[in-house]
Amino acid sequence: MADVESCLAPTTGTGPQVFAAAFQFFTAAQCLLQDVPSHDDNVNDNDTFDFIVVGGGSAGSVMAARLSEIADWKILLIEAGSYAPFESKVPSLSRGLYKTVNDWQYFTEDNGVSAQGIQNGSIYWPRAKILGGCSNINGMIYIRGNTNDFKTWYDEGNRDWHPRTVLKYFKKAESMQDQHVLQDPQLNRFYGHDGPLFINTFNHTLRNYTNKILESYNEIGIKNVKDLNEANVMGSGILRATAANGRRSSTDYTYLEPVRSRKNLKIVTDTLVTKIIIDDTTKTAKGVIAEKNGTLMSFFATVEVIISAGTINTPQLLMLSGIGPKAHLESKNINCIVDSPAVGQYLQDHINIPLTIYGNETGYNNIADQHFDAIKYIYNRTGYLAQVPFTDILAFFSRNNKYPEFQAHLNIIFKNTSRITEVYKILYRYKPSLIDSIVTLNKNYALYHFLFNLLHPHSYGNITLKSSDPKEHPSININYFNDSRDLDASAHGLKMLSKIINTSYFKNIGGFLGRLDWEPCNALELDSEKYWKCIALNTATSVYHPVGTARMGLQITSSVVNSKLKVHCVNRLRVVDASVMPSLVSGNTNGPVIMIGERAADLIKTEYHIG
Ligand SMILES: Cc1cc2nc3c(=O)[nH]c(=O)nc-3n(C[C@H](O)[C@H](O)[C@H](O)COP(=O)(O)OP(=O)(O)OC[C@H]3O[C@@H](n4cnc5c(N)ncnc54)[C@H](O)[C@@H]3O)c2cc1C
Repeated sequence: MADVESCLAPTTGTGPQVFAAAFQFFTAAQCLLQDVPSHDDNVNDNDTFDFIVVGGGSAGSVMAARLSEIADWKILLIEAGSYAPFESKVPSLSRGLYKTVNDWQYFTEDNGVSAQGIQNGSIYWPRAKILGGCSNINGMIYIRGNTNDFKTWYDEGNRDWHPRTVLKYFKKAESMQDQHVLQDPQLNRFYGHDGPLFINTFNHTLRNYTNKILESYNEIGIKNVKDLNEANVMGSGILRATAANGRRSSTDYTYLEPVRSRKNLKIVTDTLVTKIIIDDTTKTAKGVIAEKNGTLMSFFATVEVIISAGTINTPQLLMLSGIGPKAHLESKNINCIVDSPAVGQYLQDHINIPLTIYGNETGYNNIADQHFDAIKYIYNRTGYLAQVPFTDILAFFSRNNKYPEFQAHLNIIFKNTSRITEVYKILYRYKPSLIDSIVTLNKNYALYHFLFNLLHPHSYGNITLKSSDPKEHPSININYFNDSRDLDASAHGLKMLSKIINTSYFKNIGGFLGRLDWEPCNALELDSEKYWKCIALNTATSVYHPVGTARMGLQITSSVVNSKLKVHCVNRLRVVDASVMPSLVSGNTNGPVIMIGERAADLIKTEYHIG
C-alpha cells in the first residue's frame, strides 16, 4: 500500500488514460481467443442425412470433419454439451471446467475394497460435455503409445490395425510445430506435418526443476530420451503437447472449425441422443432420437450411424437402444434387439497412485508474479497459463526394460501452497487424514507428487445401466486390483520409482518419502512392498483413460465391434471412440483415439469406394 499516496499526485489525465486503456485492452483480451462464432445449424425433426455422428469429442470431431470431405455426403454431428468455453482454450484453466455444466461429473461405485481412502469409496471421473469432448479438458499430453500395443490388437485378429497402418494415421493427424523437432532430420521424419492436430512442446515455467528431475531419472536408469514417442515410450523426457501458440489443440478447434463453412456438415449442440433407432427385424440402424430443450426429435441416416460418445456413454447408449447383455437389458425393461454380452464389459483404466516426496527446494507462489503471467499470456501467450497445471516431464519404465509397464507424471507443489487442500479434496477426494498428512508436510517442504500409473492392468471393470432413463448416469464399476497381479506389479513399480530419493538432486535438497496417513497402512514399513500395496489399494484414483467397453474383436461373446468398428450383428452401426480399444495403450489415450478416428474415416471411405 506504499504507493497509495502517489496515486493522489496531481495528474494532467494523460497518465490515467494510458493505464486505463491498457487495462481495457487486457480485460477485453479473452475475446482474442474466440475463433469462429459458435452457432448451431438449423435442423428439423425427421431430417435425413447420410451419416449421423453421435458425440463430438476427440473421435467424433475427427469423424465429422473427415466424412464431410466428401461433398456428396450429408453429415449430422450431434453433441450433448455446448461449444467450448474460454477456459478450455487456455491450458492452465481447464480444471475450472470440472464439476460444471461442461462436465458429465461421473463417480465410480464403491466396491468396498479399493479406493477406501477416498470419500464414499467413490472416485471422481471428469468427462467433458463439450464439443471437442475430453480433448477440451485433458492434460494435453501427446503420446502415441508403444508399437506392441497395436501389434497385440492386430495379432488378436483386428487386421485393420497393424502397427504400420496405425502409424500412417497418427502421422495423418499430426501437424508438428516444434522448431527443434522440425530441424532434427530424424524427428522431422518421425512426425506428421500436414494434419490438423497441432503438436508442440510447452515452454514450461518449471524447467529449472524438471531438468533436475530428468537427471534423477537418468541416475535410476530411466534414461532420458530426446523424444518419448520416437523412443517407443520407454525412458524419460519432456512431453509433446496438443498445443499451439499457447492454446489448446482440441479436436473441435483443429478439425471442426476449419471446415465449419461446409454446407454438407450440420452441427447441433446441447442435444442428447437418447436412443439409436434400430429395426428389430432387419437389425439395421436407421437413425437416432435426440432431445433438445425438452423436445424429442428423430433424425435418420441412410448410410450409417456412428457412435462416438466415449467409453461411458457409448455402452450406455447401445444398451438403451437394445444392444447389450440380454438379461441385464430385460432387468431394466429394455427390449433386447441383439444380445451382445460384451457391451459395457472389459472396462480398463490407468490407475493413479500417489508417491509423495518432500524436500528443501526454494520456489514460492507469488500473487503479483501470477497476475503478471496473466498479462504475459495475453501479450505473447507465455507464462504459466500457457501450460497445464502439472509438469511436462514423463517417465516410462518396466521390470524387463523392453515393453513399458509403468508411467509417472509429476506435479511439483511449492512449499506452503494454499490451493493444495482444494486439489486433494475436490479432485482426488481423499479422506481427511490423507489430506492432512500431505498438507502438514507441505507447510515446510516442497512436494514432488509423482502420479504413478500401471499401464497394462489385468483387472476389468464394467459399465451397467441403473435404469432405462437416458439421463440417469450408469454405474461405473471400476474393480481396480480385482486381479492380484495388478497390485503386485504396482508395488514393484512404485519401489522402482521411489529409488529416485537416493539421487544427487534429492539428496541435495534433503528429499524424503512422505508417509500417507491412512490407518490400515500406518503400521507397515514405509516403502515396503506391503506398504505400497496398501497405499495402492486404498488411494489409487485415475488418470482418466478408460477404454474397452465396446471393444473390437472377432466374437460377439467377447467384443462389441469388428476390426472395421462395425457393431456385431447390427447393420449400418459403428462405434468410433476410446471404447473400441481392445486393450489399453502404453500412455495417454487422446492421441490414439484421434488416430482411431482417422483410421475409421478411411475405412468408411474405402467401404463406399471413395478416396
Ligand atoms: C481430465 C482428463 C485428463 C486427460 N488427460 C489426457 C492427456 O493429457 N493426454 C491424453 O492423451 N489423454 C488424456 N485424457 C484422455 C483423453 O482425453 C480421452 O481418452 C479422449 O478424449 C476420449 O475421446 P472419446 O472420443 O472417446 O470421448 P470424448 O472425448 O469424451 O467424447 C465423447 C463426446 O460425446 C458426447 N456425448 C456423450 N453421450 C452423448 C449423447 N448421448 N448424445 C450426444 N453426445 C454425447 C460427450 O459430451 C463428448 O463430447 C484425459 C481425460 C480426462 C477426462
